[in-house]
Amino acid sequence: MAAIFISDLHIDASRPAITEQFLSFLGADAKDADALYILGDLFESWIGDDAADHAQAAAIGGIRSLTAAGVPCFVMHGNRDFLLAGQFCSMSGAQLLPDPLIVTLYGEPVLVMHGDALCTDDLAYQRLRATVRDADWQRRFLALPVAARRAIAGAARVGSQAHTAAVEYAITDVNAGSVALALRSAGTATLLHGHTHRPAIHALEVDGRACTRIVLGDWYDQGSLLRWDENGPELKSLSR
Ligand code: MN
Repeated sequence: MAAIFISDLHIDASRPAITEQFLSFLGADAKDADALYILGDLFESWIGDDAADHAQAAAIGGIRSLTAAGVPCFVMHGNRDFLLAGQFCSMSGAQLLPDPLIVTLYGEPVLVMHGDALCTDDLAYQRLRATVRDADWQRRFLALPVAARRAIAGAARVGSQAHTAAVEYAITDVNAGSVALALRSAGTATLLHGHTHRPAIHALEVDGRACTRIVLGDWYDQGSLLRWDENGPELKSLSR
């Protein structure tokens, strides 16, 4: 048995192959897992629990079947789907996780995050993050009609793509000091996150302590997962 971690699927009606692969994954690898953890950006955008489109509804139905079969599913907010809330949980049977979180896997405490909070070199993004994670901003946004929310989310996507294309590659990666600070505060030797779409297992040292940073991959061109069993973590890709 194993725990499986995935992130950054960016499920969207315009990318049906990702939804299909996610549904097959739920019926295969995920079904045999002890638990499935989705560490953010399951969806390309989420404008409120009352506005799921058909691709999102299909993914939620798949998670529902998994949780109904007895596999717990835990979902962390990403920077695209930070508005996932209670109704999403009742529809899917999933439980929302706080970010950051320490998960103990086969006796090893692991610090788990989406990863966007570690990208502190990207000041423009961190300002945006502070705005949209504010409870008042979220209340006002969710009070807008669905069409208005969709328009704002569409504009935000375009803005985010332009921003990522305009700034240096290193700016949108995690900041080494923020990674060290997170590991120091958590007191764990392992950090697991997604968001940057740069799957890898990095060795690093924090205050003379040997640490590991594991980065999950995205699902744009293939599936990507981390399987963690009694032998430890293994990054895998799922071809399609
Ligand atoms: Mn992200």
